[in-house]
Amino acid sequence: MTISMQDHGAHKVTQLLCKLLAITDINQFGSFIDGQLCAGEGEQIDLVNAATGGIFMSYRDAGAEQVQQAAVAAELAQQQWWDKSAAERGRLMYACGQAVREDQEDLAWLESITAGKPIRDCRIEVAKVAEMFEYYAGWCDKLTGQVLPVPTSHMTYTRHEPIGVVTQITPWNAPAFTCGWQIAPAICAGNGVLLKPSELTPLSSTVIGYLLHQAGLPSGLVNILNGYGHTTASQAIAQPQTGKVIFVGSPQTGSKIAQAAALRTIPSVLELGGKSANIIFADADLDRAVIGAQVAIFSAAGQSCVSGSRLLVQASIYDQVVQRVAAATSKLKLGLPWLEDTTVGPIQNARQFQHVQAILASGLEAGAEMVTGGLGLVSGGEQGYFQAPTVLAGVKNHMAVAQEEIFGPVLSVIPFADEEEAISIANATRFGLAGAVWTGDVGRAHRMAAQVKAGTFWVNSYKAINVMAPFGGFGDSGYGRSSGYEGLIEYTQTKSVWIETAAAPAAQFGYSAG
Ligand code: NAD
Repeated sequence: MTISMQDHGAHKVTQLLCKLLAITDINQFGSFIDGQLCAGEGEQIDLVNAATGGIFMSYRDAGAEQVQQAAVAAELAQQQWWDKSAAERGRLMYACGQAVREDQEDLAWLESITAGKPIRDCRIEVAKVAEMFEYYAGWCDKLTGQVLPVPTSHMTYTRHEPIGVVTQITPWNAPAFTCGWQIAPAICAGNGVLLKPSELTPLSSTVIGYLLHQAGLPSGLVNILNGYGHTTASQAIAQPQTGKVIFVGSPQTGSKIAQAAALRTIPSVLELGGKSANIIFADADLDRAVIGAQVAIFSAAGQSCVSGSRLLVQASIYDQVVQRVAAATSKLKLGLPWLEDTTVGPIQNARQFQHVQAILASGLEAGAEMVTGGLGLVSGGEQGYFQAPTVLAGVKNHMAVAQEEIFGPVLSVIPFADEEEAISIANATRFGLAGAVWTGDVGRAHRMAAQVKAGTFWVNSYKAINVMAPFGGFGDSGYGRSSGYEGLIEYTQTKSVWIETAAAPAAQFGYSAG
């Protein structure tokens, strides 16, 4: 499998999209609304191959009318969906998982070209999408309420009912994964969906929407709206059918989304950024910890919300760990995403690349020492946004490199003296998405897990993730939970039902039957 650098992957994308969406002309691409692919009516958006810097495809923003059509379709389809038995919904959701599995290799390629991610990583992420539908298929007929032992003669029970239609807005760093992560629990709970992927990476979500429809979901249950945030996503939030907004993206945009939802008095879930601490104690298995430190920050070229971007290392082993991590980092294979042996790919877009450069430069200016890596484009023939995996030593936790989300392959290594200082540095951040500790002391592992303020915490591991486990942030990393049972409950509203069972009505003070 090769991709011509001249056409920036255009030929390959055309071939994959035409096959996966059963179309003959790439210009038919647009939003997937009410079971149909609709070319957009708004502004033209160009898609750039991160590895070459060239445009490989263009499409049009959906436009207000299409968003409205999708909302109407989702409302109607949701009623049909909820009318089906729970077992039938489960069977159809399982078929959705199978449909994704059947096309997983093609989907992984599409993702690799559009997101600029190594093909090996994309295969894993697409397989996880199938797993999400299979997991939530099993929940469809198990989402039960409770019978409450109230002290009156009532039989009182709860029902978890769907919200109706939900709007989901997702980022560019893991588009297929995020799409499955949010659509699967939403439809399991009985909702219709309007999903707006990042304008930079709309292809895999659109194909997944199409595959779910082909697998038997009612037309209009899942709509993929392609376009910009300030146009298409804002219009989706404004639709009267939207009962909740689930946002995955940056804290800055998350704040705007929560305000837009609040203006309509609808709730929101925010899955935002992070500045996670990966903590190595001197009693750790250092071979494993050194590998873990690299996986934590360099997979996805650091473009992951849970990146272990702050490496906290106990002072007695600091120099040794810095030297070992730097030596191993300098050997990582930085390359074209579609090559099988690439470990680190490019930054996904020019704006993000500039952001990485600016924060890295500020760190160097503030006194951090670059042990390996570099500032600026990696030279070597490609025109894409390649940033060398970089390790900074001598970082102080107050520096911008240690406080701002870089979202690139830049590791800041910070020393600490003891457990107390490690916890204090780990928690000295506005974020609270994830964290990890590497130690041979089981008691210390539990103490750290209890005291680091983060929604996910790993011990002697990093980045393990599964749809069964709830995921979400503390602090500026957001609120609400995705995945697992908690993620499912986010897509419901709970009703209490009271049924009088007494043979004779209880006395109602002052009231009579006439
Ligand atoms: P972003 O906030 O720029 O964009 C995210 C989405 O919001 C896109 O679909 C975009 O079109 C839309 N959007 C932008 N402005 C909008 C507006 N005014 N109204 C409505 N929608 C708008 O984020 P990004 O650069 O695409 O993604 C990177 C960020 O995502 C990082 O901060 C990363 O940590 C975060 N992220 C978080 C998680 C998580 O689960 N916590 C997962 C992945 C990424």
